[in-house]
Amino acid sequence: TYVIVNGEFIHRSEAKVDIEDRGYQFGDGVYEVIRVYNGKMFTGTEHLERLIDSGKKIGMEIPYTVLELTKQLKHLIDKNGLNLGTLYLQVTRGIAPRNHAFPSRDVLPTFVAYSKEVERPVGNMKSGVKTILNEDIRWLLCDIKSLNLLGNLMAKQKAVEAGCFEAIQHRDGVVTEGSLSNISIIKNGKVITHPADNLILNGITRQKVLEICRQNGIPFSETQFTLGDLKDADEVFLSGTTVEVTPIVEIEGEKVGDGNAGPITKNLQELFIKEIEKECGA
Ligand code: PMP
Repeated sequence: TYVIVNGEFIHRSEAKVDIEDRGYQFGDGVYEVIRVYNGKMFTGTEHLERLIDSGKKIGMEIPYTVLELTKQLKHLIDKNGLNLGTLYLQVTRGIAPRNHAFPSRDVLPTFVAYSKEVERPVGNMKSGVKTILNEDIRWLLCDIKSLNLLGNLMAKQKAVEAGCFEAIQHRDGVVTEGSLSNISIIKNGKVITHPADNLILNGITRQKVLEICRQNGIPFSETQFTLGDLKDADEVFLSGTTVEVTPIVEIEGEKVGDGNAGPITKNLQELFIKEIEKECGA
């Protein structure tokens, strides 16, 4: 299979990482994961705009436009014959002698992208997933899709060790997001999710779900909700590029509702699939 390194298409086995690449040493960079359905990117533009935006937020200019990146990624999909899967892209602040301070502007960022075949998460989407609660100990710039994922990794690992899929993170009693997904609750027919501020990643899937709510007259609100609200919720679901819309049926061993995927979550799943079909074809 082919991968992209700084705009060049090379074989996976020929791609190398320099030991002084700042992504490798410091996690000094940003990334994206884009879903491919039917050989086409889903919400590709939104992801690429966020990549460039994340770069800006860490003072790094990504040396490609959305259009140029789109072209490269389409070419990668074609070259690898990818039908159903994901694209992983990352941009680091480049290769320079190790120093906390940023290197000079003439050090070019390192851009890497590769593709992977991945099935849709149909099992979890149908039966729902179990979760734990975990204190959100991450930094205060969670809106940046940074390579620094240790806080998220430790949260996910804790969930896995508890036999769960995801960790629902909370800060000062307020639910923020998962380790790799956004969290929403449904109470009395209304979808509630944390506002898109510095405490969460403004998920592209989250935005798509809210757009679906808007277009279909499903009430929603971007407001903070507490652990108490979470416990009282009728339905809870997570959203993300790889998980799509997945019901949460258990939190810390306690059932959400009757322990099955709820009707509004199921409706959102169906409407989400329609969006995929609209953009990527059947
Ligand atoms: N929050 C975090 C911490 C994530 O890692 C992800 C997955 N990228 C999301 C939310 C969901 O974002 P998206 O819908 O853009 O995949």
